[in-house]
Amino acid sequence: MQELIRKLLADLGEDPAREGLRDTPKRVEKAYRFLTSGYNADIDQVLNNALFTVDYSEMVIVKDIDFYSLCEHHLLPFFGKCHVAYIPSTKVIGLSKIPRVVDVFARRLQVQERLTNQIADTIREKIVPLGVAVVMEATHLCMSMRGVEKQNSFAVTSAMQGAFRNNARTRMEFLELIKLRSAVPGLRDGASARYECVGED
Ligand SMILES: [Zn+2]
Repeated sequence: MQELIRKLLADLGEDPAREGLRDTPKRVEKAYRFLTSGYNADIDQVLNNALFTVDYSEMVIVKDIDFYSLCEHHLLPFFGKCHVAYIPSTKVIGLSKIPRVVDVFARRLQVQERLTNQIADTIREKIVPLGVAVVMEATHLCMSMRGVEKQNSFAVTSAMQGAFRNNARTRMEFLELIKLRSAVPGLRDGASARYECVGED
């Protein structure tokens, strides 16, 4: 990878040998390895010893989870807040593990919509709750830095499953509790908002 980065620097018109850039390939490799470390993460290991059987069926919410990901179209960051809720049937996940699950999927090349769905699907598969909801609000640097369609550089996506899809009151309760920074009309009935970077640009 370091050789590729040296080549990239040269292609950009830089001198990879100058002092400030000499260690850049090493640093970039290290950064990319970390930012894509989700590929090597084992979700069962992440959740190890953190699934508990309970007699509890109220909504569990973990909101304002910071996340950082890379858009697969431009390899530029998109980042923001993730809100997760579920209604247990027999099992719960240790609260501290929810942000870890978010990281496992955020630290890959992503599109925001797939990231949102993967988090929801994983929670559904691991604890089979009565419902699960994930909302992600993010700024996409591939849009804001490049100055394209600035109005859409902030994007909201959602995945609503089970009770959150079937029961409007449950969904509204969740959306009220997370109090979205932006009111996105489409989201109110459970659909994803229009969003994010345009792959072909
Ligand atoms: Zn992009």
